[in-house]
Amino acid sequence: MSLLTVGTVAFDDIQTPYGHAEKVIGGACTYISWAASYFIKDIRLTSIVGADFPKEEIAELAARGVSMEGLKVIEDGKTFFWAGKYHENMNQRDTITTDLNVLDDFDPELPESYKDSQYIMLGNLTPDIQIRVMEQLPSTKLIVLDTMNFWMDIAMDRLKEAIAKVDVLTINDEEARQLSGEYSLVKAAEQIFKMGPKYLIIKKGEHGAMLMSPDKTFYCPALPLAEVKDPTGAGDTFAGGFMGYIAKTGDISFEGMKKAVVYGSAMASFCVEEFSLGKMKTLTQQDIDRRIQRFVDLTSFSI
Ligand code: AMP
Repeated sequence: MSLLTVGTVAFDDIQTPYGHAEKVIGGACTYISWAASYFIKDIRLTSIVGADFPKEEIAELAARGVSMEGLKVIEDGKTFFWAGKYHENMNQRDTITTDLNVLDDFDPELPESYKDSQYIMLGNLTPDIQIRVMEQLPSTKLIVLDTMNFWMDIAMDRLKEAIAKVDVLTINDEEARQLSGEYSLVKAAEQIFKMGPKYLIIKKGEHGAMLMSPDKTFYCPALPLAEVKDPTGAGDTFAGGFMGYIAKTGDISFEGMKKAVVYGSAMASFCVEEFSLGKMKTLTQQDIDRRIQRFVDLTSFSI
């Protein structure tokens, strides 16, 4: 099964109560691809960087089987840069800088070899690019779109056009409220289903994630961790684990998606344990299996 990933490949500057990581590797597509690479081998990355982006990082992802044919390198351009600062409550963060740089005029033309992709993970990026990618894919099985308040603030109409075309939307609770104009997440979901998606995943940071369809709801808690060093990329890592698991099993039923939400949550629980991709690059199958078991133990009870 093939998974197409689209999103930023970035430099981040991150401040958390645990420290300050300057000019580290980030980007939605980077986190998605690393997380998904633990599930499937046919991953097709679509993004753009400047010549300042380290070649070794590209080589590391390629070594995990991620196709880099869709990564455009602009020789005289600068890579997307994001700086953020987290509060004591790490569910809250302030964006200090977003420099789009090479992203400003990225017009992704998918390589021929990508056009038969079945599972599509549209990571957080301008809705224009997300739409442009969907237009080039004739036969998809599942399209998932992730976005954030930044795009709601500056491109809401275009974002709604993108949302109308996808099967699953993943956003956090505040973004669900902003998008729908409803405070109750149940009412927010009702409004969002009217916009097009058949499923909605609402990410609630340290409080887990909720999978919704018009008639069903599933809730997966986050793993309680003693130390969260850097929540950056948790949402994207969740998306990568979710999509990687779905692409591996091919099961797009609600029951299949429930399992994928647990896998996504398990991968996100690793991501936040170190800054940047520190933890995500070191996992083994045994680490993942053990963590899944902790989710099972955390949520099973008998009455
Ligand atoms: P997350 O913590 O899951 O929201 O993702 C954080 C990652 O998203 C960081 O590594 C940033 O490089 C990237 N990012 C931050 N802002 C944006 C934006 N406006 N568009 C696309 N990617 C972004």
